[in-house]
Amino acid sequence: MVEMKSAAEIAQMRAAGKIVAEVLARVGENVKPGVTTGILNRIAEDTIAHRGAQPAFKGYRGFPATLCTSVNEQVVHGIPGSRVLNEGDIISIDCGVILNGFFGDAAKTFAVGQISKEKQNLLDVTEHSLMLGISKVAMGNRLSDISAAIQSYVEGEGMSVVRDYTGHGIGRQLHEPPEIRNFGRPGRGPRLEKGMVLAIEPMVNLGVYQVSIERDKWTVVTKDRKPSAHFEHTVAVTENGYDILTVLE
Ligand code: MG
Ligand code: MG
Repeated sequence: MVEMKSAAEIAQMRAAGKIVAEVLARVGENVKPGVTTGILNRIAEDTIAHRGAQPAFKGYRGFPATLCTSVNEQVVHGIPGSRVLNEGDIISIDCGVILNGFFGDAAKTFAVGQISKEKQNLLDVTEHSLMLGISKVAMGNRLSDISAAIQSYVEGEGMSVVRDYTGHGIGRQLHEPPEIRNFGRPGRGPRLEKGMVLAIEPMVNLGVYQVSIERDKWTVVTKDRKPSAHFEHTVAVTENGYDILTVLE
């Protein structure tokens, strides 16, 4: 069942979301050649602690870190550590926090120094696909209107959407119903209602949509090892449309 949130609960989630946005901004400022993913993770930990919140991913099903850091062909769930970022890499930073019992979740893919045109196009298309999906968030629309908007745009740009991982409802738990696919026909699934809060998160591949899991049992990589990007926001359905909660203000 999809759990509806009151205005007061959405205000709490906005406070959590704002911390997530701050983490992504601070980490993003530090993405550069020579930095390790472990250092980025430490910056995220410090920022979250400073705000009196807790990281949502650390310990989730045994995940060992505060951030998911996924470089180049890594799609999601990369584990931060000693890996050094190089000029030309792209890195998806995914962060979740809990504040006063409510979760916020967002992700963004950053360029490390100068990147190829192809990779820049991948970042632009993925971010735009998220915004197109969010533009479908309105009372009375169907859940799969979001999915269809993302898929048709991405595939029209000659890229593919990952099928094995999806967005999700969010609230007092990190992952709540409904599952939000990044593909599918419009007009399916539940109608969007005021008080639903959705984490929408397209994962877009330059090559094939198929993925596999690395030996660490977490890191998801593209089957063809071509680059992948990931953007995510936590979004509430409101009277007038939508409200993005994972922003700085
Ligand atoms: Mg998520
Ligand atoms: Mg996330």
